[in-house]
This record gives sequence, structure tokens and C-alpha cells, in this order.
Amino acid sequence: MDGKYSILLVEDEEHIAQGLTFNLEQEGYSVTHAPTGQEALNALETQDFALLILDLMLPDMSGLDICRSARKRDDRLPILILTALGDETHRVAGLKHGADDYLTKPFSLAEFLLRVRRILERSTWYRPLPGTIYRFGPHTVNLQEQKAMTPQGEIELTEMEVRILRIFFSKAGEVLDRGELLESVWNLAPDTETRAPDNFIARLRKYFEADPAHPEFFLTVRGKGYRFENGEN
Ligand code: CA
Repeated sequence: MDGKYSILLVEDEEHIAQGLTFNLEQEGYSVTHAPTGQEALNALETQDFALLILDLMLPDMSGLDICRSARKRDDRLPILILTALGDETHRVAGLKHGADDYLTKPFSLAEFLLRVRRILERSTWYRPLPGTIYRFGPHTVNLQEQKAMTPQGEIELTEMEVRILRIFFSKAGEVLDRGELLESVWNLAPDTETRAPDNFIARLRKYFEADPAHPEFFLTVRGKGYRFENGEN
């Protein structure tokens, strides 16, 4: 993973905050700690974060208000809520206000770090692209309208084709693991035996490669998966 994920941790209990910060930093994340709701809102105003970890019971306001306000600013920011044991109502409200996941205190550190990693992985896979038009080689793809302009003419793309193209475009130059593709595009277990990805790649090559047998954009990485080259890397 390139770059450091920066995480906003909103938690008023000092010893919990210290422990979580220490362990997140050990994992390579950069952490900003806000002990109050007001400080959390200030941080959200002035900085970009990859993840918001939010304790619901804060001294000056409810974590739900922060959840709402964070969602209003950025509807893609992943939010992990921390709730007290038995706090069912708040948890449900949190999910309703746009939280992605929740953990009930006390939780195990291993579980916490795993959830954080999963949320960040998921959000990276669906990292939004600037705009809806993507150009590579002689092609222009309009993801919104599900269309591609190629030298051979216009192509109508299916929902699944757009989904997989989105991932390729957002990860240009990176190897896409076959198992991860199966999980995130098809919701299948990574070790599922299926030709689905291969069939899709074959179709994309037919659309976009001058010579599908010798692709220059949608490449196979032997034993691993695929790599999209936009010709600029
Ligand atoms: Ca608290």
C-alpha cells in the first residue's frame, strides 16, 4: 500500500485513546486524536482522513452529530463507531446515520485492528475517480453513462464491466490480485474456481486492444492476476 492512511480517532477516554493510537501507529497509520466533539469537527474541517473512528459517548456532544456532519461533508469517508456494551439504540442510530461498522467496548485489540484494515481495504477498492470520463490510449470511457468510444465505434458497457473498469482505472499500474477481484467485484470467496474474471478480461481486450492476443492495456500477471496500464505509468 502506498502512502500512509491518516485516521481521525475521536475518543474522550485518555487511556483508551492512547492505547489505540499507539497500536494504530505500530501498524503504520498516522493518527490524529480528538478528545472532544468540537475538536473532532475542527479536524474534519481542516484535514482529509481515510477513516473516522468515533466513540459515541463524548463529553460535549453525541458522536452521532459528528457522524452526521462528517457524512454531510464527505459521503465516502468510512466511519467505525465504538459503543459501550449494551448500547443497542445508539449503535442502530449510528448505522442509520451512515457509519460503516461498529465495535462494542470492551473489544479485543486484534479485532479492532482487523476491522480497521478491512474498512480501509474496502474503501481503497472503491476509491472514487476524479470525474466520470477516463481516457487511455485511443479510448474514452464514460463510467456514468456506461459507454466507451473506441476507434471501432461506440460500445455500451454492462454494469459489471463498468464496475471492473472502475477498479482497474483507480489502480492503474498496480497488480490486481485475482482473489481480491473475485471478492470485491463478484462477492465470491478468493479461492473460488471460476472463469468469470478471465471471461471479463477477454471481453475488455476485445473492446480495447488492437490485438487481443498481445494486450498493451489489460495485462495478465502470471500466477497473480491482472494489471491495467494506461500508457502513462
Ligand atoms: Ca466516551
